[in-house]
Amino acid sequence: MKSFLHSFNFFLKNLGIDLGTANTIVFVDGKGYAVNEPSIIAYKENNSILAVGHPAKEMMGRTHQGIKVIRPMADGVIADFEAGEDLIKSFINMAEVPGFLINRVVVGVPSGVTSVEKKAVIESAHAAGARQVYLVSEPMAAAIGMGLDVLGGEAHMIVDIGGGTTDIAVINYGGIVIDNPIRIASDEMDEALVRFMRNRYNLSIGEKTAENIKIHHGTVNGTYTKFEIRGIDTIENIPRAITLSSSIFKTAFESVLTAISDAIIETLEQLPPELAGDIVDRGIVFAGGGSLLKGLDGWLREKLNVPVSRPDNALFCVAEGTRKILEDFDEYKSILLN
Ligand code: ADP
Ligand code: MG
Repeated sequence: MKSFLHSFNFFLKNLGIDLGTANTIVFVDGKGYAVNEPSIIAYKENNSILAVGHPAKEMMGRTHQGIKVIRPMADGVIADFEAGEDLIKSFINMAEVPGFLINRVVVGVPSGVTSVEKKAVIESAHAAGARQVYLVSEPMAAAIGMGLDVLGGEAHMIVDIGGGTTDIAVINYGGIVIDNPIRIASDEMDEALVRFMRNRYNLSIGEKTAENIKIHHGTVNGTYTKFEIRGIDTIENIPRAITLSSSIFKTAFESVLTAISDAIIETLEQLPPELAGDIVDRGIVFAGGGSLLKGLDGWLREKLNVPVSRPDNALFCVAEGTRKILEDFDEYKSILLN
């Protein structure tokens, strides 16, 4: 009997999940990264699930009234619990591990989540089959995933610019000294671009178009190229394409980037002097998709006057952190939220 149980345990899998406001990544033991999909779910009129992840994102802004497209985590809190639970269960199913074989699940959650939201995440993972479910705050997971020594005394400042939230946190001795999540992040750059095009060029564009333009042409580094943008002329009400210089992004994104840098300065000001000293010496580490905007590192270095850096795995470091936590579970147990 004992040896049967032993060999059964051998087949059990652990899962690490980065439940982001824009994207969810699932890591599976022995399989690697099994899911990397937008945190978006679409429902039919009768409330049955129509699509999850990429196909649901494709539907954004282009469906009829019978279809509801929801981003349950968009603001870093679970705005719609049922959709949040469906999303978590669907992503665990997409990882293609039978529920009865799922042992431990570690989920990275935004640091602002309430205890009710934590409970919802834990219950959803259990409902998908997980035996044990643990939560870790995303900036902590990101720091572990980028290889920082989070258990030592030196302080690290992590700034994770995601879709809906920017999480600013200072970490040492396995804990969070200060955490300052704000609801201004990369989605707000898309919204700012939509407004800018409307106000300055009378061109109406959708948020998905704005996101594409931001990812492919967005820059605040001073080296500019030309690009084409298509939309609807708001005066003549006809489709129009215009060619612009990428110098527009510095103006269009100014207020969003300033809000982020102001929040970083505020957080630094709240720190005890010894820890602020660590960060001024060694710099701030950026992560998340929003940190990939070209030239952002230089823009921030100038504004903040401290060194800034970004790991190569900026989009994956939270998921990578959950992987490392699963691998060295006893070492990291003390930093988990539950
Ligand atoms: P979250 O953790 O909140 O799910 P992510 O870290 O996955 O968010 O980042 C998603 C955001 O990053 C989106 O708003 C996306 O448009 C933006 N993004 C992704 N790649 C780039 C890029 N190369 N340049 C600028 N923004 C990017
Ligand atoms: Mg994230």
